[in-house]
Amino acid sequence: MEDLKYQIDLLTALNERLMASEHIYRAISEFSGYCYIYKDYRTQTAELIGPWDDTVGEKVTSLPYDERYLLNLLHEDDRKAYTESIYEMEHHHGTNAILELRTKTKFNWIECEARMVYDDDGNPAEKIIAFRDITKRKNQNEEIAYLAYNDSLTGLYNRNYFVRCLRDMCEKAEAEKVNVELLFLDIDDFKKINDSIGLLFGDELVQGFSQLLKEFQGENTIVGRFGSDVFIIAIYNPHGQRSADHIYKAIREKLREPYVLTNKSEVHFTVSAGVAEFPEAGKTALDLIKNAEIVLSKAKESGKNAICYYEPSILQNFIKTVSLEQKLKDAIDNEDFTIYFQPQYETGSGKLRGAEALLRWPDEHGQFITSPGEFIPIAEKNGAIVPIGSWVLKETLKIMNNWRMRFRLPLMVAVNISAIQLEKENFVDYVQSLLQMYEFDPKSLELEITETAFINDYDLVIEKINVLRKLGVKIALDDFGTGFSSLSYLKNMPIDILKIDKTFIDSAIADSSAGIITQAVVDMAGKLGLKTVAEGVETEAQQNFMSSIGCDYVQGYLTGKPMSKADFEKLIIRQLP
Ligand code: C2E
Ligand code: CA
Ligand code: CA
Repeated sequence: MEDLKYQIDLLTALNERLMASEHIYRAISEFSGYCYIYKDYRTQTAELIGPWDDTVGEKVTSLPYDERYLLNLLHEDDRKAYTESIYEMEHHHGTNAILELRTKTKFNWIECEARMVYDDDGNPAEKIIAFRDITKRKNQNEEIAYLAYNDSLTGLYNRNYFVRCLRDMCEKAEAEKVNVELLFLDIDDFKKINDSIGLLFGDELVQGFSQLLKEFQGENTIVGRFGSDVFIIAIYNPHGQRSADHIYKAIREKLREPYVLTNKSEVHFTVSAGVAEFPEAGKTALDLIKNAEIVLSKAKESGKNAICYYEPSILQNFIKTVSLEQKLKDAIDNEDFTIYFQPQYETGSGKLRGAEALLRWPDEHGQFITSPGEFIPIAEKNGAIVPIGSWVLKETLKIMNNWRMRFRLPLMVAVNISAIQLEKENFVDYVQSLLQMYEFDPKSLELEITETAFINDYDLVIEKINVLRKLGVKIALDDFGTGFSSLSYLKNMPIDILKIDKTFIDSAIADSSAGIITQAVVDMAGKLGLKTVAEGVETEAQQNFMSSIGCDYVQGYLTGKPMSKADFEKLIIRQLP
């Protein structure tokens, strides 16, 4: 601007003195990219200087003294502004004005700066108006403004802007005593999809999905992108609870058709959703977002391709989990855990076979903080199961080694192994090093795994299991009967032992057809060369039935609950000859 003023001053001066040497200031103005109108009220003349054609996009050679002519060159919507601040400048005794205007033909942006000089009596003497093409800068600014509000990949509202709009929505909703519904959406298994189609097509998929979501954008509905594959929709004053549900159903309906990428390949995908409503599920925009995200994680947990609604219990469980996670971290650092042993017996002879090692988490008074059924899944989710599981294995073998040396009884031990532990690169080496360290017979170690161990990387898990089995370590399939496990599937499993789940044992007695199935399982396992363990045997009747159908071992409250190391030691001593 300094520069412009200088030029205007210069021109004014030049004009006053050198009206005749027009070519000089024409040259200057062409050089600077400005064009000017110089109006002399005293002589009632007006003059054009500079590259007018380039700036306004029309040939303008001369200008009548009445500046109104210029209005025709401007965009209709901008004429009023020009008239008020520049054309009628003298009416309000103005001296300076600056405006950004659009031209009529080229839709260019021009900056327009005017200066008025009055004579000693206060009458208009001269007016100079400088024009400059600022289209380029304007477009850049618009681009920057666009990116400040929109996500560059999808054009949906970006995170910041969405939060701002949601905040406004919530304030308005509070004043008008209505609700705002927030829908968090996440593409299921997006990482896997990305890995299989590649990042570029992954982006294309996100764009395609965003197009679909954009259709819901409207007067009362805003749509934003929150993360790579996370989207969020806010609905102002929804119709009852079900506006989000309606949108989710519409999305699912559209996703029944596969998405076709530009390379013609088809992708099938699903989305999960979490819904939270203002003000019930959060008093501020950020609370609402946080809670909707928590609800979404619940939908993911419950098997994906699902929608889940906010309930206070979801939040409470989440808070509980977070605080347990923290306590769990401390417990690992302080080795606060202990191992319990639940005896296993041979069904025929009633001889003590050994034990299953079960993890316990006692507080300083010896009370259990919570059951493994609760904290193991948390530890599996945040990876804490890896150090915990390593500790269990080591501690168990250490105790077993001590008993072996003292009592010289060939007792086996079963240790539960999570899929996550098994997937760790050094798992097999770790087991091997412990066996060596405690001189433990590999044949007396049973690793209990569940079917989930085979879900992620089947080949790798099989390979590891085969190495372990070559060492002599036995593999037991835990909880048989609770998952997808079918008899035909057992044939190809590299396992030695089948642990028949408690639910099977319970129903085998109560219902005769279940009894027949249980019998078929035991028979089949026998034919495949597997040993069977009946888990959770609580009654004599269950014990007798399992024995009658040829189940090899039993484990349950009937013959012994999980017990401390000291108690199990007493049990061993009773077995001694
Ligand atoms: P699981 O491996 O199926 O262990 C058997 C569970 O059934 C144990 O619960 C045991 O106390 C219980 N149980 C045994 N007999 C009976 C019975 O007659 N009646 C009834 N009602 N229950 C019986 P626990 O110790 O609470 O363990 C629960 C689960 O936690 C285990 O199920 C296992 O999946 C997991 N877990 C325990 N310790 C470890 C560990 O060190 N590592 C891993 N990864 N998981 C573990
Ligand atoms: Ca087990
Ligand atoms: Ca089990």
